[in-house]
Amino acid sequence: MTDLLNALREIVGEQGVLQGEAVRSRQSSYWHRQPMQAQAILRPATVAELSACLRLCHAAGQPVIPLGGNTGLAEATASTAEHMMLSLERMQRIEEVDEAGRSMTVEAGAILQTVHERAVESGLLFPVDLGARGSCTIGGMMATNAGGFSVLRYGMMRERVLGLEAVLADGTVISSLGGYLKNNTGYDLKQLFIGSEGTLGVITRAVLRLEELPTARTCAMIAVRDFTQVTALLKHLDRAANGALCALEVMWSEFFSLNTGVHSAHRSPFAEVWPFYLLVEWQGCDENDLRERFEQALAVAFDEDLLTDAVIAQSLNEREALWAIREASEPEELFFDRTQGFDVSLAIRDMEVFVCRLKVDLAELDERATLLVFGHLADGNLHLTVGLHESGPSHAEVERVVYTCVQAFAGAVSAEHGIGLEKKAWLPISRQPAELDLMRLLKRTLDPRGILNPGKIFDL
Ligand SMILES: Cc1cc2nc3c(=O)[nH]c(=O)nc-3n(C[C@H](O)[C@H](O)[C@H](O)COP(=O)(O)OP(=O)(O)OC[C@H]3O[C@@H](n4cnc5c(N)ncnc54)[C@H](O)[C@@H]3O)c2cc1C
Repeated sequence: MTDLLNALREIVGEQGVLQGEAVRSRQSSYWHRQPMQAQAILRPATVAELSACLRLCHAAGQPVIPLGGNTGLAEATASTAEHMMLSLERMQRIEEVDEAGRSMTVEAGAILQTVHERAVESGLLFPVDLGARGSCTIGGMMATNAGGFSVLRYGMMRERVLGLEAVLADGTVISSLGGYLKNNTGYDLKQLFIGSEGTLGVITRAVLRLEELPTARTCAMIAVRDFTQVTALLKHLDRAANGALCALEVMWSEFFSLNTGVHSAHRSPFAEVWPFYLLVEWQGCDENDLRERFEQALAVAFDEDLLTDAVIAQSLNEREALWAIREASEPEELFFDRTQGFDVSLAIRDMEVFVCRLKVDLAELDERATLLVFGHLADGNLHLTVGLHESGPSHAEVERVVYTCVQAFAGAVSAEHGIGLEKKAWLPISRQPAELDLMRLLKRTLDPRGILNPGKIFDL
């Protein structure tokens, strides 16, 4: 092993290899505070260095874990003392912004926030945005096909990447950096790597698709009486928005009440409690026009009994206060000894019945279990948090109840965060055996020695 490390050091230089305390001083993940474990963290500065490192690791059968900002699933970058971490932290350059073509070429270690800021400097927008923006990298976001706040309008990473460069396990560089919106020249190879969780290759560069920067936004919190109103309102607001609808988040009453209760820093804008709350945002370029159309759409919705009450943010501060209710999570820690989170996809029409049934199933398992639900409704994505007490059911028991219910509704066990190690036992619920066979075939073909993120997504 010392031989391999010495050879790798030859490639990346002294500052390209971290060992010992420099590895242990890092957190194992954003979510866990344990020290990181690995033989070493390799930090190549160029694609040539990265390719040469992989070639050596491949020859030696050395397991490698690609590392971005480490904000993905708790076990996405899980490692042992045997693993070699391959960090993109010295490959963060923004190489080019093409204002006419509305694209940006970046190295995969670029931090999302830096990408946002650079796009704004050119009057453009990179529209994928999420809470981890200060740490997550474009490479990690591509590897997990990250979504975020505006998927409804702009799509997930799959829709935002025009081209990419990736290095296969044996060091082969696949350069698919064409960067055209339309490119029907054979298989779309970039899509193989997007969402592959670092199991098929290490993404090193990307051409990102930008949009015109919206300069106006308007947002409202809406209270509704029943789920029929929720779905009718989605249709109404989408039509009325004429392309401006950016976010439509739905919060079930228990989630909203906890986040606006006396123990929370946030307050409900409504005097009464309602079964569902919607946070809706439109974005555009003309402040007055956007606001006028938004108010009119809400007034029509009220007249047609599609909503019960609504509060429109009158300032940026008020907008942030409304979003803070949806993003808050601190009160959960006060009420429960532990929580278990799930991120699932379902048909919108099934969501209400699914949540009712899951509450019943969880109550049968433990009558003190509490289900908190919010979702990116229009994306068909629900986030579920199960609040538990010390003597409550085990992690595995809760998982079984939740995923059995997801299976009953033909849902997907992961909407945003991928499979990693955590969900691989449940992957067959969401994919057909023939699909899993094809995935394994791809893995064996592109990474025959199984060195990249071994054991993630499925076992070979
Ligand atoms: C506060 C918070 C909010 C979040 N909100 C959202 C959200 O709204 N929507 C959403 O989709 N996700 C969300 N996430 C999770 C999201 O998946 C990650 O933030 C991001 O996609 C991962 O980027 P990263 O650079 O941190 O990758 P890492 O965590 O380092 O890695 C994630 C996976 O990708 C692999 N990988 C990393 N870099 C590369 C590369 N260059 N090539 C190949 N494989 C690579 C890793 O091996 C690992 O399997 C959130 C996370 C946090 C902490």
